[in-house]
Parts: sequence; structure tokens; C-alpha cells
Amino acid sequence: MAKVNNWQLSREMEFPYGESRSNRQWAGVFDINKCIGCQTCSLACKTTWTTGRGQEYMFWNNVETKPYGYYPLGWDVKLLEMLETQEWGNGVYQGKTIFEAKQAGEKMVGFTPEDEDWSYPNIGEDEIAGGPVSQGMYINYLPHPVWFFYLPRTCNHCTYPGCLAACPRKAIYKRKEDGVVLIDQKRCRGYRKCLKGCPYKKTMYRVNTRVSEKCIGCYPKIEQGLISQCFEMCIGKIRMQGFLNTPEKADPANPLDFLVHIKKVALPSYPQFGTEPNIYYIPPKQVPLDYLTQIFGPGAKKAVETYKNAKEDEKLIGALLLTGSTEKLIGSFKIQNGQAIGYDRKGNEITRVPIKEPTVVRPHYDKRLDVYRLDVT
Ligand code: SF4
Ligand code: SF4
Repeated sequence: MAKVNNWQLSREMEFPYGESRSNRQWAGVFDINKCIGCQTCSLACKTTWTTGRGQEYMFWNNVETKPYGYYPLGWDVKLLEMLETQEWGNGVYQGKTIFEAKQAGEKMVGFTPEDEDWSYPNIGEDEIAGGPVSQGMYINYLPHPVWFFYLPRTCNHCTYPGCLAACPRKAIYKRKEDGVVLIDQKRCRGYRKCLKGCPYKKTMYRVNTRVSEKCIGCYPKIEQGLISQCFEMCIGKIRMQGFLNTPEKADPANPLDFLVHIKKVALPSYPQFGTEPNIYYIPPKQVPLDYLTQIFGPGAKKAVETYKNAKEDEKLIGALLLTGSTEKLIGSFKIQNGQAIGYDRKGNEITRVPIKEPTVVRPHYDKRLDVYRLDVT
């Protein structure tokens, strides 16, 4: 095992291969306060990549209702149980990652889901935690006692991929140019070690071709400067895609660096697993802090506070408003004259949104069309 730096743990950790970061790292920020669980992202991905025979059960992108939803069944709670209780101390992970907690002869702690575990992608949908909702119940205070939230999930194109570490054929590789993690379909022999090695269960076995498959990050679009299908089609405009630097190279003009490293409002899911995942979540503000801390780590409390106070921070609001405003990859942004402006990597303007939407009051009678309007807002 080599020693590598995992900034999400604020320490070095063990990994089967030496540190070899990509030149650029594919990454996303999901504001799950805005996710409406419409599954448009799941279907955008499905209709693009997994419509073939043997792919019927596959959702490279799925959206599950937390705390009771899972795809595949129990993917996170089973692994948390296997890892047992672990601790953070002063922002540093004191516990063991999946690579460090392994038994002799293993490469990591993990499990392979049963075939049936993939059969119910919407299990637990809209089920609430915090107690039953009785007839006539209404809630007029915050935080309210019952809660759930939607967790959209894709492959995290991890910096230290568990799937890659587990593969005995070295069929899985991470692209130098963008950090996208791919399975070489010709090298794969379908041993399914990657299913065990990925803590997020984002590699899937195709029974008719007898090889494993996974999210490819829509790399043909990335190469054209466009965002992935599940990002582009998101109805709630919750998804910002781009490239993320390491914290010491954080660029305040890069919206992803700004949200993840500078404002620290977007956090990785289960950083304690140790793969340094590259999808970052703005935690939902109505959810109990203990639960948020378990999923998103010790930064959850501050992230929620920062998000709640976002309206006092024009640059933060601007970065959030640029989310979902263009089908192109935003390389940098700035705030000017009350507008957030996004640029591509070459510095060309690609999107512009007002920080404050102007209020337009339309006349009751429109002379030009000879109609009366009823403003209901
Ligand atoms: S999320 Fe899983 S499949 Fe994706 S790169 Fe990480 S370990 Fe591999
Ligand atoms: S399309 Fe967007 S809003 Fe709808 S479920 Fe997916 S992430 Fe959530």
C-alpha cells in the first residue's frame, strides 16, 4: 500500500497505488435543497446510455429518498456497519477508510450486492423520518420534526477509486485529461470485484455481455466543453459541473473551487470511505445535523449555516444562480452590475443571470392586444 494525500480527510491514507492526480478533475456540485426528486436526470442518463439488453436494471444516475431509500438495497448502511464506529477529530478523520480497515488478503472492506438488491430503485421513496404524520397535522415551526430529502447519485469519478483498486485485470482507469473513471470493456472479464470495491455501488454488471459497466461522465460531451446529460436536463437546476482543483490550488473565480474550497458550502458524500469522491452536495437545511454529519462529514454544520446566510453574500448567490443556467462547462465567473456572468475556459462569456430578478408589473389593460390581464402573483 502506498501513502497518498486525501484532502477530504485532512490527512494521508493508504491506497494500493501511488498518488497520481489527473491534470484536471471532473466534478459536480449538487444543491440538494432544490432537488424535487423528478428523476429527469435518471431518465436523461438511461435514455442516452443504458437502453440495451442486459441494462434494464441499470441507473448510472439514480435519485433516492434518504434516509430510507437505497439503490442498490442498503448500499451505504451495510458498509457503515462493516466499518463500525469511526471518529472525526478537529476536522481530521481519525478512523479507518475502506482501504485501511481491510482484512489480510483483501484490498478493501466492501460487499457485493445481490442481484435482487438492484430491483427496487425507488424503494423508500418519499418515506419520512422523525415520526408518523397524523391526519390533519400541520407544522408551523422550524426545524420541523419530520423530514426526508432526495439524494441524486452518479459515479463520483473518485480521485482514489475503489473500483479501480479492486480490479485484478487493471481494466479500470482514470483519464489523465479530465479524471473520468472508465472500464475498458475489452479487458474486463466480469469478475465483479469492482462492485465490491466501489463503496457507492456505481459499477454494474451486464449479464448478457458478462462485463461490468459504469457512468462514463458523458466524456464525449465534456470533450466538447459541454456538461453531462444528467446535469443538463436537471429540472430543478441543482447541478453545477466543471473541474475542481485541490484546495491549495483553489481559484476563487472557478465556481466549483469557490463553492467547495472557499465557501465550503458543498461537501463530498461519505468522505470517510476514503475514495475522495468528486460530486459535492450542499446539505439540505431541514435535516438533523447528526444525520448530515454522518453523510457529509464534520463540515455539515458550517455548510448549512453558510447556505442559510447566502443572501448576504452576493458572490455566493451569484455562483448558486449560475447553476443550471447553461449547457456549457463554466470555467470562471464574476459578479458585475448586479449580474453573475459565466465564462468558458477560453474566457468567452457563455451565460449571464441577474442576481435579483426585476419585478415587472403589467398594466391591467393591454392596449396593443386589447385584452385585460389578471395578475395573480
Ligand atoms: S464512485 Fe465507485 S465506480 Fe465511481 S469512481 Fe468512485 S469507486 Fe469507482
Ligand atoms: S433532474 Fe434535478 S431536480 Fe430532478 S431529480 Fe434529478 S437532480 Fe433532482
